[in-house]
Amino acid sequence: MNAITVILKNGQFTTLKEWHEKYDLKAGSDQIGKHFSLKEPKFMQDLKEYGELIVNEQLIRVMDGLRETLGVPLKINAFNRSNAKQEQLRRAGYRAAKFSPHVAKMAVDIDTDSIIQTRERVKKLKEVSSKLGIKIRIGYEEYLQADQSFIHIDVCPEYYAKGKPFHSKPHPDVWEQSMTW
Ligand SMILES: [Zn+2]
Repeated sequence: MNAITVILKNGQFTTLKEWHEKYDLKAGSDQIGKHFSLKEPKFMQDLKEYGELIVNEQLIRVMDGLRETLGVPLKINAFNRSNAKQEQLRRAGYRAAKFSPHVAKMAVDIDTDSIIQTRERVKKLKEVSSKLGIKIRIGYEEYLQADQSFIHIDVCPEYYAKGKPFHSKPHPDVWEQSMTW
């Protein structure tokens, strides 16, 4: 399990073992969150493709919060991404940004079944974010218009805003504030 890294709220990196203690998860288990395990197909795919899986504390808290509020399992469409993968998507003509929150290991894309479900989940997501006090950025409207039903969630403001641990790392200004697009 050495291939798992957790970026803590303060920007420090830790092991799965330490994360289990800190977040009150069962020692030695494959839990990464209260409701998410390393058996999650997308996590297994990322581990296989990149040889590692990097998650961050604030994103896990939001994912667990959303999962608890909805009361149903979430399907993850996208999680980690490498620079090479991002470049590949760009060249293939996808609307992949130059700086991706997925490459920064700040983001997750959650699958949805319908426009109604997308809107419901976005509403819940905003409630969860405000309840937890974790700033998030939510992408969905643009994707709906392109007939894609998923919600992009990232916690970039919690790491890149002024006074946050990664503020000095190169990043687009739009990563510093909550927003919905
Ligand atoms: Zn995304």
